Amino acid sequence: MERVAGGAGADTPLMQQYREIKARYPHTILFFRMGDFYEMFEDDARLGARELGLTLTSRNNGGAAEVPLAGVPVKAATEYLRRLVAKGHRVAICEQVEDPKLAKGLVRREVVETITPGTVLTDDWLVQSRNNYLVALWGGGDAHGAAVGIAALDVTTGELVLEVVATAELEASLARYEALEIVVPAGAALALPPPARGATLTEREAWEFDPELAREDLTRTFRLASLDGLGIGADDRPALGAAGALLRYARELKPGGLPHLTRPTLVRRGDVLPLDEMTRRNLELVEPLRAGAQGATLLEALDRTLTPMGGRLLRRWMLAPLVDPAAINARLDAVEVLVRDGRGRERLREALDGVRDLERLAGRAALGRATPRELGALRDSIARLPDAAGALGGLEGRGRAAHLETAAERCDLLTDLGEELTRALVDRPPAQLADGDAIRPGYDRELDDVKNARDGGKQYIASLQATERQRTGIATLKVGFNRVFGYYIEVTHAHRERIPADYERRQTLTGAERYVTPQLKEYEAKVLGAEERIAARETELVEALRRRVADVIGRVQATAALLAQLDVWAGLADVAERERYVRPDVSAGAALVLEGSRHPVVERMMPRETFIPNDVRLDDAGRIILLTGPNMAGKSTLLRQVGLCVLLAQMGAFVPCRRAAVGVVDRLFTRVGASDNLVRGQSTFMVEMSETSAILHGATARSLVLLDEIGRGTSTYDGVAIAWAVTECLHNVVGCKTIFATHYHELTQLTEELAHARNFNVAVREVGDEIVFLHRLEPGGADRSYGIHVGRLAGLPAPVVARAWEVLKLLEAGHHVAHQPAPRPPDAAQLALFAGAPPHPLLTELDGLDLDKLTPIDALNRLASWKKRLEDI
Ligand code: ADP
Ligand code: MG
Repeated sequence: MERVAGGAGADTPLMQQYREIKARYPHTILFFRMGDFYEMFEDDARLGARELGLTLTSRNNGGAAEVPLAGVPVKAATEYLRRLVAKGHRVAICEQVEDPKLAKGLVRREVVETITPGTVLTDDWLVQSRNNYLVALWGGGDAHGAAVGIAALDVTTGELVLEVVATAELEASLARYEALEIVVPAGAALALPPPARGATLTEREAWEFDPELAREDLTRTFRLASLDGLGIGADDRPALGAAGALLRYARELKPGGLPHLTRPTLVRRGDVLPLDEMTRRNLELVEPLRAGAQGATLLEALDRTLTPMGGRLLRRWMLAPLVDPAAINARLDAVEVLVRDGRGRERLREALDGVRDLERLAGRAALGRATPRELGALRDSIARLPDAAGALGGLEGRGRAAHLETAAERCDLLTDLGEELTRALVDRPPAQLADGDAIRPGYDRELDDVKNARDGGKQYIASLQATERQRTGIATLKVGFNRVFGYYIEVTHAHRERIPADYERRQTLTGAERYVTPQLKEYEAKVLGAEERIAARETELVEALRRRVADVIGRVQATAALLAQLDVWAGLADVAERERYVRPDVSAGAALVLEGSRHPVVERMMPRETFIPNDVRLDDAGRIILLTGPNMAGKSTLLRQVGLCVLLAQMGAFVPCRRAAVGVVDRLFTRVGASDNLVRGQSTFMVEMSETSAILHGATARSLVLLDEIGRGTSTYDGVAIAWAVTECLHNVVGCKTIFATHYHELTQLTEELAHARNFNVAVREVGDEIVFLHRLEPGGADRSYGIHVGRLAGLPAPVVARAWEVLKLLEAGHHVAHQPAPRPPDAAQLALFAGAPPHPLLTELDGLDLDKLTPIDALNRLASWKKRLEDI
């Protein structure tokens, strides 16, 4: 039907059609429907074949050169689509929009939907516990110089967020959205920071970012006279520009539009604590440092939410801690009420337990995509609301938390929608509309009538066997149904003589004949016609239910948002009680006081009560702590637990301490030296230094800076020198709260010159030449590194350890080591190892080492390799 030959050298009409459509979808893989396949051509075919492991073939193209081709069967297309989108590709689905049998010439084709990483709607492609934000950025034009507008949309829930940030803070803000796709103006020299790497970049025409267009779009969408009603002012222009392009793009991809779009939430500068990528990673907030590690993140330790929207909200709050003490305390009030009333909390959590993904279910319904089963899930979730509201209303001391009071007042039980869904849907609605029987009998007169007609017809046909047996006297006569011939009467050959005159023969089998009668045909037509009308009516009714949800989408979203908050607060309260967390005293003061603080994640990996709590205090008098101690003492753990406690407090959660007072910080920086950050293609030391310099530029007196072994990536002297200078700068210029963990005990001298710096060490006890890690923080600096102790603990052979002690003594006494003779070990058995000529190769190597250039890590590695070689001897 579609084989139309083209002239020499020209494309066939089919290829012409393909090219016309393809031209409108650059940077997008076009799935071009041809019968039972979606075909990809040319570059798309090459790309698709590579990404999906398909065979690349070619297609005759009339007189022109053959074109490369790869295809996937329509039946299996979903899985291929999922894989392409997961790899960051955009895919446009081009369907045949007329029946090929009826088409004159070429079948008409149109793109019906484009799927991209940021606009996925298919439920099981999405991670339930996190938002899938599509983010647009706009530089804001000359007038706004250093400001960048961010607009973020979660297509699944309709949530829209607008934010304007200083260019320098774009990285931290962007990171919060964890976007898989970012929309930017074509060719705009917007240098995108690291969180953008790995995301799919979508370029749009510059004019689409015009704030005026966005203004029109938003006022029209929300039926407003001006944007003042949304709290959007002149300063928000950059975000408005971004929103314009974002909404245009999203509407273009989803022909159904965005019926569930929420009024935009505005994030103002200073609302949230910026967390840059390194801090997020080093504190292991939502992702473990070692990919795949289980239970290593703060989110996992903290997440006791019961609903998907609660899980998503917790993640959002964790990545966006607050700064305003009043806002933080309002959240803490809610958690506290729920901690104190354990039974009330349990009641609330029981009610929440049955609530499904109200946000996304409602979104899918509004977008016209909810299946009958999903509408049923929505109904069942609504059915839980009275219990949740009851539990909320009954909470003891609820009046002490304004958030809970408002929640109780505003809680919309969606009774009308729930009743409608209950009346309309059967108890267990089918997974797909096509499966039929989604609507409850008695709900719709028309549907019931057609169903009756169908059932009457079926009954007549069922009774026909008995009446016909009587009429013909053929006891073995049967009435049956098959897909090809429909209903029939079957009579074995033995009775052929007795068939009545009105029987028409349809089919001959080996032992029998099949007949129909005009009356049977008539009923059959009624039954089949009825089936068609039933399907059509069910579709209409389900679509009406979806519209019904869409009509009240704002109310459903508000209830979902409320439940999400309750879920998070109840979950945080649950953790607080189980793990003995306390409410931090959060204020605008400068001091940070953590008494008996623990690391919320590390403590869970050990038997209960074995983690050693520590007291930490940072205030104006002592705002810098130089934390020394040997490797393995617990410096990094302490440093991170301080960061985590502050972050927990500022997101409005209880903290793992005996007592805590937190003066809010405006920035939180965490840097770990020599972390294996080779992905960025810079030497680790270079990375370390550029990150450190970012802190020196970005930190204020209100910031908290946590530095772990900065300077380790270079030689000892360089490292100590840099660490020294950085600390001086933080102390004298920035004036922020700082903890600097280092095993360079040379740095302890710093406190002699810096008035606000204090030495602390994580204690170890020496027992003979063994050391025991106490994990206890003590005032004062560590006086030595204990590197050789650690080497011994790690299993270095005794002679090597003994020799290391000798070398250390010589070094400490200022001797040149190389020409000092090695004393003879007393043990004869070890003579073979150290004496005799030529010297043992290990000794030669030790002799050749330049200890000044050797970092402690290198030393350990080298010792380990020697040990290995010794074992091999
Ligand atoms: P460092 O940074 O000083 O080399 P780490 O912080 O990495 O040491 O801690 C080493 C190990 O010591 C941790 O993996 C943990 O198991 C244990 N540890 C650290 N702090 C404590 C503590 N307060 N109580 C109990 N164990 C701890
Ligand atoms: Mg460490």
